[in-house]
Amino acid sequence: MSSLEIKDLHVAIGEKKIVKGLSLNIRSGEVHAVMGPNGTGKSTFAKAIAGHPDYTITGGDVLLDGKSILELEADERARAGLFLAFQYPSEIPGVSIANFLRAAVQARLAEGEELDATAYYKRLYGKMDLLKIDRKFTSRSVNEGFSGGEKKRCEILQMAMLEPKFALMDETDSGLDIDALRIVADGVTAMRGANLGILMITHYQRLLDYIVPDFVHVMYDGRIVKSGDKSLALELEAKGYDWVKKELALA
Ligand code: ADP
Ligand code: MG
Repeated sequence: MSSLEIKDLHVAIGEKKIVKGLSLNIRSGEVHAVMGPNGTGKSTFAKAIAGHPDYTITGGDVLLDGKSILELEADERARAGLFLAFQYPSEIPGVSIANFLRAAVQARLAEGEELDATAYYKRLYGKMDLLKIDRKFTSRSVNEGFSGGEKKRCEILQMAMLEPKFALMDETDSGLDIDALRIVADGVTAMRGANLGILMITHYQRLLDYIVPDFVHVMYDGRIVKSGDKSLALELEAKGYDWVKKELALA
């Protein structure tokens, strides 16, 4: 059983304060959805946790299994068991998915330890079967000319191969068509289990029809202002975010 504790986190981009005291606890096996209007700092929060260099953590702490990760570089955080699925993944022309994943898995091994190619491909194909991904897919260059759905498929496969303790998935805004939404939903469903904690940032109630979250949080102006179960997402869909803002104004 692992835990990811986010304690009173403050994040700034340059001088601008974006995340202003965000607290959230996730344990293995749980799926948390974070919803909220555009520009409230959802992506900033996810990138800061993953260790993106443009984002400065100005207060609070992030503990993985009780130990602060804030002094770790992004790659060390990844090796410690954090996975961030990017909203806008990069293209890596000339590098096949199979080789990219192999390098990523190799990087996880102890120094001097060589990845066994046969075992690696066996595991890769096993994950691909689980996720219903065509074998031809891994010979393509990472994200080059990919459709939204293919980018998601690549991302989910990375996640399956790296077997993180916690996955932060930023699925916001535009660009996720119904096809891509399904790929994410099916991938998460296939990997959901006692060993993985998921934080899913989404605008879409529709995604939460496929992936029923254990907890739903509303983020507004850099904080989590309301938490509940899946019914909160339905309430938000019916009433919009203005209702939450009004409640805050009264409080
Ligand atoms: P959300 O994901 O909730 O839509 P973001 O975290 O993307 O919100 O953005 C929160 C705020 O931070 C916005 O006002 C946005 O303009 C600003 N912001 C995000 N990224 C940058 C950046 N790289 N440089 C400057 N401002 C940024
Ligand atoms: Mg965003």
